[in-house]
Amino acid sequence: ASEQRFRAPPGSLRFRAGRFRAPGRGAAPGELAVDGVLVFLSFHGCRFYGVQLAFGVNGHGPGSEAQDRESLRDLQEFLGGEAPLHQLDDLTKVNPVTLETVLRCLQARYGADIFYTNAGCTLVALNPFKPVPQLYSTELMREYHTAPQPQKLKPHVFTVGEQTYRNVRSLIEPVNQSIVVSGESGAGKTWTSRCLMKFYAIVAASPTSWESHKIAERIEQRILNSNPVMEAFGNACTLRNNNSSRFGKFIQLQLNRAQQMTGAAVQTYLLEKTRVACQASNERNFHIFYQICKGASVDERLQWHLPEGATFSWLPNPEKTLEEDCFDVTREAMLHLGIDTPTQNNIFKGLVLAQALAGLLHLGNICFADSEDEGQPCQLKDEATCSIQTSALLLQIPEDTLLETLRIRTIRAGRQQQVFRKPCSRAECDTRRDCLAKLVYARLFDWLVSVINSSICADPDSWTTFIGLLDVYGFESFPDNSLEQLCINYANEKLQQHFVAHYLRAQQEEYAAEGLEWSFVNYQDNQTCLDLIEGSPISICSLINEECRLNPQLQTRIESALAGSPCLGHNRLSPEPSFVVVHYAGPVRYHTAGLVEKNKASTGLQPGGLMLHTQELPSCIRSPSDIFPESRDPVPPELTRLLQQSQDPLLMVLFPTNPEEKTQEEPAGQSRAPVLTVVSKFKASLEQLLQVLHSTTPHYIRCIKPNSQGQAQTFLQEEVLSQLEACGLVETIHISAAGFPIRVSHQNFVERYKLLRRFHSRTSPGTHDPHPATGRSEWPVHTKEAMLQPLVQDILHTLPGLTQAAATPG
Ligand code: ADP
Ligand code: MG
Repeated sequence: ASEQRFRAPPGSLRFRAGRFRAPGRGAAPGELAVDGVLVFLSFHGCRFYGVQLAFGVNGHGPGSEAQDRESLRDLQEFLGGEAPLHQLDDLTKVNPVTLETVLRCLQARYGADIFYTNAGCTLVALNPFKPVPQLYSTELMREYHTAPQPQKLKPHVFTVGEQTYRNVRSLIEPVNQSIVVSGESGAGKTWTSRCLMKFYAIVAASPTSWESHKIAERIEQRILNSNPVMEAFGNACTLRNNNSSRFGKFIQLQLNRAQQMTGAAVQTYLLEKTRVACQASNERNFHIFYQICKGASVDERLQWHLPEGATFSWLPNPEKTLEEDCFDVTREAMLHLGIDTPTQNNIFKGLVLAQALAGLLHLGNICFADSEDEGQPCQLKDEATCSIQTSALLLQIPEDTLLETLRIRTIRAGRQQQVFRKPCSRAECDTRRDCLAKLVYARLFDWLVSVINSSICADPDSWTTFIGLLDVYGFESFPDNSLEQLCINYANEKLQQHFVAHYLRAQQEEYAAEGLEWSFVNYQDNQTCLDLIEGSPISICSLINEECRLNPQLQTRIESALAGSPCLGHNRLSPEPSFVVVHYAGPVRYHTAGLVEKNKASTGLQPGGLMLHTQELPSCIRSPSDIFPESRDPVPPELTRLLQQSQDPLLMVLFPTNPEEKTQEEPAGQSRAPVLTVVSKFKASLEQLLQVLHSTTPHYIRCIKPNSQGQAQTFLQEEVLSQLEACGLVETIHISAAGFPIRVSHQNFVERYKLLRRFHSRTSPGTHDPHPATGRSEWPVHTKEAMLQPLVQDILHTLPGLTQAAATPG
């Protein structure tokens, strides 16, 4: 028994719980076997002890778990019952805190249409998969905003929003805040962050009345308008979510001294740019492509060469109609972003943009045939001649240069940097075509984000604090995992560590405030796993980076160099080269095939490569230090040169021909800037993000998908459980269980356990206290009471010192 005594200040309620096993499951027949939790309560200095049995009794030989559970239920009923599960607003208040009870509580709430539940300092948001407009009304926002104690209202994303907002405001020394929204694809992260942005647009709006300004001029509206624009270009329909964000996003909402939102800045992470040229079956390209194809007027169709019914190989599943397909919404939002330079304005009217995008669609229809003679360039397939013409026309680049760039590689070698020309194989031509599209799209996306930033970012002098919203991919584990999953899971591992540190601190503070002594000395955090991934001098990241230069088997090197790490799993079953990392959320097998190539990203010319793309930090995001490397993705020079020849106003902006860039991109021997691998860039931007987060007070929202079909009213325990694991909630539950898992108010405690007093005094029950449920003094369950009595006696004997203390009147 881990009993610890303490004194509580007069008038306050104190209790504590220790876990005990007496003598434990599997005891000899006839022996008492209890696996439970003992609750101690101190009130006005008088100790009062109660017993909470988590798993019931095994008095007569080893009983089954089912029997135990049944007796637990009986016991609970006997002791006055519990509040209905769905009424428990906080998962750390279920009794006892176990996975099973947590799941049952969430399920009960979901069944009662209650979608938000607290879990200590985290908010769990279940996706309703149906419209619940009353839950997001402006009136409700105001209610949470004006409530004296919003945490006393029902758990809601607005509670988190409002508490975060008050945290900034209430402190003498203002502290930046952040809200980390996580969860798997389709769980509701983007919805939640959008909801928070709308909340702040209302509660943190500057006092000038809405009528006095045109909507487009209002900063709040501009910030909100950035959402549809970024979603049109960065979201796509996937198997798991019709509107899946294919990038991570950190948005910094900037507040002035009066707590009004004066601006915002966005940073994006890991745009999945491969999607431009390659979509899994049953998935789609980015929404914007469908928008221009569906939303073009008759004139525009002519101008963009998008005749009705035209098919594009990069535009799969166009027949699927989505609400996200509406070009007008994007156009409106772009216009209202209030871009004021003529070039940008022109581009943002949508026309110029759409033309370049149509050019990419035609580019995707270019097909090559194998060359008959190896020394000769590949031939175009018949239909492709037309595609190349149209594509060159729309992208405003010379058709012959386009064809040449796709089919012929130029290599510079020797001291004089002589140029050699080598015809590409058919597969290489395809890869170069795809790479060209990815290059354009990634720059376009970056540029859009920078334009959005220039439109919404406040003057540095006009704001003092910020609230950061982070909408990131959750932990991923597929049958086939590669560099993308490694980066995403690495990021999640980092965020989890940040979260756990914060959670432990919060728990510790709570206990300190209650006058309790406790330390989580036994708690192992995930540092070992992070050491395996990013540690120095040797880690998975360092080895992958090294392999970019050397080239032996990655798997063997990882296995031998990192054999000592407990987080490196065993890799016996997989026929393909791979390694296993035991993440906090579970083991993930990463296939090494293609991993090193993807990491190079320097040329993007490897098939399937260049998937990840991290964006530079906008200058207006203030960070504690400026460690983010100032470099662009190095790109194959002939592709960039081709695009620099374009006369298209948009491509001219994206691929300027300033001399500075030329020197950077021409591979000029020694003077070449060091090539940054995807992993190193990602690591740097992640560290930078964490520095920003560390400088803030964090808040966490965990989004959960109750089922993967997107159905309302369907709660699948298995699926929820795996997400609770992946988002670290299970971990939180364990931490919580390692501390004081049972938190009962004094009132409830007395109600529930007062009958034990009779056992303590060892007198036979005389007049009964009224039964808490029925109010009658005649208790209906004498048999159970009789069963309980010897048990409690035994417990009292088993735990020395208790009998005496228990005799003190409570
Ligand atoms: P994620 O960003 O986590 O991939 P989304 O935020 O895009 O997921 O949510 C997926 C879909 O789930 C949304 O398009 C919406 O239909 C639905 N959804 C999510 N949250 C809510 C909510 N609170 N109320 C109603 N529908 C929701
Ligand atoms: Mg999303």
